[in-house]
Amino acid sequence: MTWRSFLLTLYYHASRPARAWCYRCMAAQRRLPAIVLVYHRVADDGATPWTMPSALFVRQMRWLQRHFDLVSLEETQRRIREGSGPRPSVSITFDDGYADNCRTAIPWLVRERVPCTYFVTAQNALTGDAFPHDQDVGCHLPTNTLDQLREMADLGIEIGAHSYTHANLGEIADPESLWREVVAAKRTMEDVLEREVRYFAYPYGGYVHLNREAFRLAEQVGYLGVCSCYGGLNFPGDDPFHLQRIAVGNDMIHLKNWTTMDPRKLGTPRFLYRTGEGGVGHRGDENPTPQPLAND
Ligand SMILES: [Zn+2]
Repeated sequence: MTWRSFLLTLYYHASRPARAWCYRCMAAQRRLPAIVLVYHRVADDGATPWTMPSALFVRQMRWLQRHFDLVSLEETQRRIREGSGPRPSVSITFDDGYADNCRTAIPWLVRERVPCTYFVTAQNALTGDAFPHDQDVGCHLPTNTLDQLREMADLGIEIGAHSYTHANLGEIADPESLWREVVAAKRTMEDVLEREVRYFAYPYGGYVHLNREAFRLAEQVGYLGVCSCYGGLNFPGDDPFHLQRIAVGNDMIHLKNWTTMDPRKLGTPRFLYRTGEGGVGHRGDENPTPQPLAND
């Protein structure tokens, strides 16, 4: 155990009574959080910081099964609209579309009937090219083939759109490029998979990578919801169209802290895209690579 993990474990145990009290208050008001987690790649070669070993993935899932209702994004949105049940919920999502997820993670989720939304970048699914963030670090990891995605969809995995080219939408002002990333990504994947693509996840997903116009476009063309990834939770009464997600740390202690009323997550400011102001705009403090797996 590293010093960091040791200190986080101490923090977890020391703050448990306060968090248990917070949990009881929120449960009484049916305001328990609807948590959405993000994974990228589950494999045992540890090729990148956004790769999680398969044994750890299964361990995290087992722990989540014991403490949460594991639900779809649609059920997450219902709970945000109508109030939580007696337990908080967690929804599992994956970003990018790594072929290696078909070895352990996806078969495990299917076997255990854990709902999952799998966000895929259209261009990489079509061409088989490595993702730009992998190419940048000289790592050419295989992406999911269309046949794999069709098979996953047949098994009940919801396929979502993760833009067309994995661009930073926060930097796009040109309407045509934005249309391609949000709308063409949806329509292209619908054509090749012959299924509706109902959810969109921003590449990178930090505050600086979000775009108010992209939110509006997504709503206009019929997405049911849009996911960011700067670490927030969702609560009943929030806007159900914008689902805040947490990128999962590559250990157990981050997961345990973040999903159990951690004050550091409870106060995360929402990106308010409907109003022209307020909320959080471009703070410039997010990591422009895929979400790091072990930040605090
Ligand atoms: Zn991504």
